[in-house]
Amino acid sequence: MAVLPIRITGDPVLHTVSEPVTDFDDALRQLVADMFETMELAPGVGLAAPQVGVGKRVFVYNWVDDDERLWRGVAINPTLLITPTPTGEADDDDESEGCLSIPGERFGLRRAERAVLTALDLEGQIYEIDADGWLARIFQHEFDHLNGILYADRLDYASCKEVAKAIKKSKWGVPGNSWMPGVDDLDA
Ligand code: ZN
Repeated sequence: MAVLPIRITGDPVLHTVSEPVTDFDDALRQLVADMFETMELAPGVGLAAPQVGVGKRVFVYNWVDDDERLWRGVAINPTLLITPTPTGEADDDDESEGCLSIPGERFGLRRAERAVLTALDLEGQIYEIDADGWLARIFQHEFDHLNGILYADRLDYASCKEVAKAIKKSKWGVPGNSWMPGVDDLDA
């Protein structure tokens, strides 16, 4: 297993629609194992393949809910059904979202309260999770990555300007930037 560098916003792979997985082989198992290791060290509650430079429809997640239940798995070629996104202003405390590809930043963002994830596991077996709350948010965030969308692309006008400023200040927003969990301290 290996920890992989995490691509930072501006890298084309983060802004491109990923391709479906067709081969459930050793290369895929290796990628997923490396993604789990990278996510845990970062640390993050989710990580999508484009974030480690692989344009495939794969994400991993690892999150403990308020009832101490562990949600941990891999979603391959997922689909996601969501309830309507609430309107109005996001709560900066309860709805604050971050991304390992925009390290160190967090912004309030409204997300659908419920999401039904249907995906394949590493054996190619289909499964479904009916998620709500933060797990539904994680699924929406990671699913977006597979379509080349970052949460920064969904922010309201004021936050959008702020995140653009932060990205410019860090000299991101151009191809070729990445950071290494366990090596770089970017306070993600
Ligand atoms: Zn992200």
